[in-house]
Amino acid sequence: GPETLAATGKVLLAKPRGYCAGVDRAVIAVEKALETYGPPVYVRKEIVHNRHVVTTLAARGAVFVEDTEQVPEGATVVFSAHGVSPAVHAEAAQRELKTIDATCPLVTKVHQEAKRFAREDYDILLIGHEGHEEVEGTSGEAPQHIQVVDGPESVAAVEVRDPEKVIWLSQTTLSVDETMQTVAALRERFPALADPPSDDICYATQNRQVAVKAMAPQCDLVIVVGSTNSSNSVRLVEVALQAGAKDSHLVDHAGEIDEAWLAGVGTVGVTSGASVPEILVGEVLHWLAERGFGEVEEITTANEKLTFSLPRELKRDMRPDA
Ligand code: SF4
Repeated sequence: GPETLAATGKVLLAKPRGYCAGVDRAVIAVEKALETYGPPVYVRKEIVHNRHVVTTLAARGAVFVEDTEQVPEGATVVFSAHGVSPAVHAEAAQRELKTIDATCPLVTKVHQEAKRFAREDYDILLIGHEGHEEVEGTSGEAPQHIQVVDGPESVAAVEVRDPEKVIWLSQTTLSVDETMQTVAALRERFPALADPPSDDICYATQNRQVAVKAMAPQCDLVIVVGSTNSSNSVRLVEVALQAGAKDSHLVDHAGEIDEAWLAGVGTVGVTSGASVPEILVGEVLHWLAERGFGEVEEITTANEKLTFSLPRELKRDMRPDA
């Protein structure tokens, strides 16, 4: 056991880390849908970008599909936290699916902004990752008005109808610093570029980046728990390295940590993306403790209290005792 090993180093644990309010709500929505309607409950796309969460829900009767076409007519389908385009809603209605929309309210907010500025006939520059589900959903609100700008390198290729009527929006899970670089580059090309009414990068993404930045300068290694398709988790590795961590890696679970990363390491930072259940962080801490990194200090930069209520269409059907 760990008591037989000499302590070789310490762990800094970022707080906040892990589940955000939108992920928590989406996962509970699938669990409650399974309880309320019984399996199978179909889920369009990964409910949140985490392998452990998807596998656990699948074992309980959730059936993950890529497209609503794969859902039998009349069945129940949950839309993931990342949001869907109006075309997907229309398709589901046509197939008479019972839909539960687990889109994070903070993603819905960006959809509302997109609709509003499209109505006002702006060219909307959506900063985000090409092909990411959230970006596809938001773009679908106004395909004629929105173009995706995937980082500062993509700025040169942007073309607009009227440079006096341009606004930027963003995906919710980007790096705050890189997004500001992209905005600056866009503004050089389009000095009249308007800012969105409020931040699109959500509180959870920002808070997790602030926390990892605070501990990174003291860390020889930062382990970020998260799946490779999780945008906000991948950003945490980048932010850790930029903020001064000597090394940083993304792992889905403790089994993916390479012992070699610990060579010469005195302080290990640990954090996790917004879609990561705390149990996976616990396993990483246990793995580290077994290798002499048993002393854990939490570095707190914010206390999060936000929660979102469950989708209305689900709450209506839930048993009162559920
Ligand atoms: Fe919502 Fe932000 Fe969580 Fe995405 S990361 S689900 S936008 S709170």
